[in-house]
Parts: sequence; C-alpha cells; structure tokens
Amino acid sequence: MYVCGPTVYDLPHIGHGRYNLVFDVLRRYLLFTGLHVNYVSNVTDVDDNIIKRAAEQGRTEPEVATEFEARWWEAMDALGVLRPDDSPHATAYIAQMVELVADLLARGVAYQTGDGVYLDVSQVEGYGLLARQSLESLRAGARVESSEEKRSPLDFALWKGAKEGEPSWDAPFGVGRPGWHTECVVMSLDLLGDGFDLHGGGQDLAFPHHENERAQAVAEGRPFARHWVHNGWVVVGGEKMSKSLGNFTSLTDLLARSDPRAYRLLVVRSHYRSPIEVTTETVADAEKGLDRLDALARRFGLRDLIAEAGRGYVLESDVADADPDALAAFRGRMDDDLDTPGALADIFELVTAAHTAADALDETGGARLARTAALLAAALGLPLHAGDDEVDAETRRLVTERDEARKAKDFARADALRDQLVSLGWTVEDTPGGTAVHR
Ligand SMILES: [Zn+2]
Repeated sequence: MYVCGPTVYDLPHIGHGRYNLVFDVLRRYLLFTGLHVNYVSNVTDVDDNIIKRAAEQGRTEPEVATEFEARWWEAMDALGVLRPDDSPHATAYIAQMVELVADLLARGVAYQTGDGVYLDVSQVEGYGLLARQSLESLRAGARVESSEEKRSPLDFALWKGAKEGEPSWDAPFGVGRPGWHTECVVMSLDLLGDGFDLHGGGQDLAFPHHENERAQAVAEGRPFARHWVHNGWVVVGGEKMSKSLGNFTSLTDLLARSDPRAYRLLVVRSHYRSPIEVTTETVADAEKGLDRLDALARRFGLRDLIAEAGRGYVLESDVADADPDALAAFRGRMDDDLDTPGALADIFELVTAAHTAADALDETGGARLARTAALLAAALGLPLHAGDDEVDAETRRLVTERDEARKAKDFARADALRDQLVSLGWTVEDTPGGTAVHR
C-alpha cells in the first residue's frame, strides 16, 4: 500500500486523522486475515508551505520540517495508527526524481520553460481516469494562469526553477526543486515496485495529485497502482473542512479533549467514502460506544488483545475459540468495500449477546462471545480497557453493604448506597458477581 503522507509545516488536523485511521483500518484488516502488508507513506519535507513557514519564523526549512514531523508521529501514535514500514522523505529522493524528469524530457512527453519542466498531459493515454472526466472536459474547466509558460493549463510542474532564497538542487535541466506530484510516483515505484496493489489518500487528492502521479508512470510505460482508494471529507459544523474556510480543527486538540479511541470509533462508524461530521456531540456519542466496550471488558475480565499480541495488531487466530459465525460475518462485511459501519454494528450485537448469555447464567458462552467481540474490535484497532481502579477500604465497605442489602431485598437501602457510591465518583454496575464499581 502507498498512502500519501503529510507536508510537515503545521500541526495535523482532523482530516489527516481521518485518512490515517481509514488506511490503518484497511491495513489492520489485511493483516488480520493473514496477508503480508508493506505500507509506505511519504513525508514531504520540501514544499512551498514549508518554505513560507520557515521565512515567517526566521528558521530553516529542515528545522520546520523536523519539528512538525515529530508532532505528526506523536499524534499518529496517540491515535493508534501503526507506523509505516517505510516513510521516505522527498529530500532523500531528489536524485531519482531528477532521473525521472530527464527521462520524461528525453521521451518528448515533458518540455522545458523559463520557470521549470512540465509534463504534456495530452500525450498521456487515459488522462482524466481518476477525475472521471475526459481531457476535453478537464481542459474546459481549467483555469488559465497567464504568468506561466505552460502549453496547456492542465500540464503540471515536474521541476520548479530555483528562486532566490529557496532550497534548490542541481539538475541537467536547471537548478531547482521537484514538483510535489513527482515525489510520490518515484517513491512508490521504488519501494513497492511496478503494479503495486493499493494507492490511497483523501478524496481531494484524486485529482490532480493522483492523476498526475499516474500520468508520469504511464508516460514512462510503467504499470502503476492496481487499485485506488479515496476517503471522504470531514465536515465541521455542517461545512466541508477546508483551508479556505479556515475551519480546520487540530487533531492534537481533539486528542487532548477526548479518549483517542473515540475518533477511531467515530471514523469506523461511517463508510470510508462518506463524509463524517466531527462535533462535540458526535465525539461524546463515540465515547459512549467505548464505554459499552470497556464495560464488557470489565465484566468478563478481558485484556487488551492488541497489547497482548505484541506485534501491534491482531490476527484472526489470536482468539482460539472465537465464534466462527461472527468471524465469517465480519469478513463478509469488511470484504464488501470495507463496510466498517456494518462490522461495528455486528460487534455491538455480540456485546449484547455476551451480556444476555451471562445474565442467563451461561458464563462460558457469554465469555466466548465477549472474547470474539474484543477480537473484532481489536482488528479495527480498538483495544478494550478493563481499567484497574484502586478501590479504597471505604468504597469496599459500601459495596459489601449494598450487596447485603440486595440479598435481603432491601432495595431502598441498596439504592441509597448506590447514590452514595455515585456521589464519591464511582460508576456502579450490577453484575452476576454482585456490585462492581469503576471510575
Ligand atoms: Zn502523493
């Protein structure tokens, strides 16, 4: 899998969080079924925004890129997103990008102007495939920028001629720096090979970024990605989150305000191609879902299966006695264009079924369903937390007293003791083993 990574000049926002969660879930599912996955995601460390930020802050571009790359990984780790197998940096691939641009020039599909090198998209077969538009209709919709010497407004920069004070590298076609679309095609083909399986990114990258990556491979006569996966928007307050609307919400803020698992649950609750709405309410609702999963873990003494597996993800075989029908249903959902909302609904049905079985005193059957639910949640990257709250002597005394009151059918007394526990900050649950409390 190749997934376009960040341009490191600012804190990650919730849109970055979403696409990383979507592709993390896809990756985890492929691993769960026993496939080997090689996951590559790049870091763009030379770009207009980094140059601008460095100038604003009186720092060098590498200083800006290093700082924000560190913040990026912090946020991804907090989200439970597995690190890529490879995260190539654009600046480490300059020589190979120069080679590609030189070759495209030699083939006559690229041309040089006063300000750089451009790809002539009219020579690329099937250009417009990812935009789902013909070259003619794309051309009709393109904005003409008079300052550029491009032959067509759709042609894009492979190489940008050096400007005063900007980082630049030597090349046979002039000093400059690579265009953004060139780094991904070079790095994906280098690390994954021709005809690799999956290329992913946000819906906003399909055109022109992915189209232009593909165009370069096609112009080279090399098979590119066999499948494309694009995820939907994040909606904030009823509007698409975008730079121009200024309604970006920082992922770092969201993670500080809520259980980091809540955003993952919110993301998998929707289909990856649908828009998702991130509000205080939808996050709180996701936290309620987590409460149900954690309550299951407490009742059945379930452990964190992801941590226990010791490899960062779970395999189908990690729970030896998992319910085979539930496993088959999960696979059916996920194989159907990654139907995570359906899979999640099934997991919550398993949670209910586990409680129902245990309430009917089928402890063995209940525990098995609970373990299956925990396994499938873990397959989506959601660990369950049973919690180990310190229960003090006073609380233990109240719990014992309440159990005795219930045994004696003194429900008024039992309710009063429950209220007292709640006022001390405990959540009180009735389990077959008696009163259970947790923070
Ligand atoms: Zn890319």
